[in-house]
Amino acid sequence: MTFTGIVRGVDRLGRIVLPKKMRIAMGISGLTDPIEIFVSEGGIVLKKANMQEGVSGEIRCLDKFGRIVIPKEVRNLFDIKSQIDSLEIYCEEDTIILKKYQPTCIFCGGNEGLITFKDKKICTLCINEIKK
Ligand SMILES: [Zn+2]
Repeated sequence: MTFTGIVRGVDRLGRIVLPKKMRIAMGISGLTDPIEIFVSEGGIVLKKANMQEGVSGEIRCLDKFGRIVIPKEVRNLFDIKSQIDSLEIYCEEDTIILKKYQPTCIFCGGNEGLITFKDKKICTLCINEIKK
């Protein structure tokens, strides 16, 4: 099953909450399962670490609230700022992909001068057009 479009903020310690459904899809049952974090073209990839096969990425565990720390180097690589940026969370088979969330205007797809109105992003150009 694929889940798309879940957006979660990065907290001040660089953590993000992994939705429970996604943890289950990854095969993460408890909070003690190690998760491997690595970077691919598509974004930040999280998967259940398989210690027998060996791991190449960073190993992190969830905390008791289901949060995981995104390693600082990885955050720097994607220019993800704590408490400012959000990540879009996708589930692909048994992996989770995190991408920096870049909001766009619901009308024109632009990303400048966005304001939020009833949970939707609208750019000032479109607002001015609506007003006319
Ligand atoms: Zn617009």
